[in-house]
Amino acid sequence: MTDATLDTEVLIVGAGPVGMTLALSLAAGGRKALLLDRRTRGAWRDDPRALALAHGTRQLLETLGAWNAAAGTAIHDIHVSQRGGFGRTQITREEMAVEALGYVMRYRDLAAALDARLPAATLLDGAELTALQVGNDRTVATIRRDGGETTVRAGLVVHAEGTPADDAGVAVSDYRQHAVLAEVRPQPAHGQRAWERFTADGPLALLPLGDDYSVVFTVPPAKADALLAMDDTAFLAALQRQFGSRVSFTATSPRARYPLALRLRRQLVAARQVWIGNAAQTLHPVSGQGFNLGIRDAWELAQAVLAAGDDAGDTVTLAGYARGRRLDRRGSVAFTDGIVRAFSTDFAPLRVARGLGLLALDLCPPARRFVAGRMIWGARAWP
Ligand SMILES: Cc1cc2nc3c(=O)[nH]c(=O)nc-3n(C[C@H](O)[C@H](O)[C@H](O)COP(=O)(O)OP(=O)(O)OC[C@H]3O[C@@H](n4cnc5c(N)ncnc54)[C@H](O)[C@@H]3O)c2cc1C
Repeated sequence: MTDATLDTEVLIVGAGPVGMTLALSLAAGGRKALLLDRRTRGAWRDDPRALALAHGTRQLLETLGAWNAAAGTAIHDIHVSQRGGFGRTQITREEMAVEALGYVMRYRDLAAALDARLPAATLLDGAELTALQVGNDRTVATIRRDGGETTVRAGLVVHAEGTPADDAGVAVSDYRQHAVLAEVRPQPAHGQRAWERFTADGPLALLPLGDDYSVVFTVPPAKADALLAMDDTAFLAALQRQFGSRVSFTATSPRARYPLALRLRRQLVAARQVWIGNAAQTLHPVSGQGFNLGIRDAWELAQAVLAAGDDAGDTVTLAGYARGRRLDRRGSVAFTDGIVRAFSTDFAPLRVARGLGLLALDLCPPARRFVAGRMIWGARAWP
């Protein structure tokens, strides 16, 4: 039995940071959107991730009034090296002439700032999409909530549900790596420096977060089992072995893990539907591209819809959006996937080639600035 019928121009399925950014960007342009999430509002409080946010992401969040300045830790320099091989490079904010190369923020603080800006009655939480009928001029979504059913009629349905399950529309490439996450106390203090250390197990990232480092310790699944089973002392010792002796680690938070795969939706748009953020592409966390790409999806889609006139989901608008996202998406996927594949092997000739690559980056400022620019701005040209 249907309890209620709602009408909206845009229905956004998934109130993660990307879905919320889209809702805010549309609201800023005076367009109506309805967000729904299967979880209860604020469930993101338990999310263990910390995200490296690019300078360009900060600018977009500031435009939306959702930049949580107090929760962000600035990165002043990034040290890149490989374990058991030569070659290293360092990227600094002075070289890039920016206040910070990026910022590290907990997912929950990012989500809280976006959530606080949502206009009233924008979010239906604890709501599951159970059916979607696509018609010529609108879609009809059936939503189950509080034991009842709601029908939502919308011109456009945006899928922002995060990492998709395996289905024919998604190309999956399993990295056979899991990310083990923890927050650890460094000795000496981090001095706003981030570390990206490539190892045969996978990349190890240390991101400054408050007084601590947020650690993304990437390893094969069996090693992740072992890391999660260790007590704190054994975990800190394992981290120390993997990282080396430049920094010591004195205390750790509980650990969490994420299996890692590249998941690419083959088509970004279909009749009256579009996929953005992790629902469109889920990347390896190395070099922190995922949300930074997703927020650009949300922003660009909002600009396309705002320019579209009355019909938010017309074919020409959606095709234009998909075309416009091609370069940024392909570039971010190739950059991330290329790094993971080149660095996650102990094959000796490749180790030498990687060392030469790092050396070349170190000796060639334009190449280093290109890599840094991608991290700071994404595919957009940087000043
Ligand atoms: C270990 C790790 C480290 C990372 N580090 C970085 C980093 O440093 N920098 C960076 O930019 N990115 C990073 N990322 C990627 C980043 O976390 C994601 O790109 C980002 O969270 C994607 O946001 P989203 O809103 O698309 O999806 P999500 O954050 O997954 O949100 C999706 C929302 O949709 C809801 N939902 C799901 N299914 C349904 C449904 N059927 N109906 C209704 N609602 C639904 C969920 O409840 C959730 O609220 C990292 C990822 C991992 C795993």
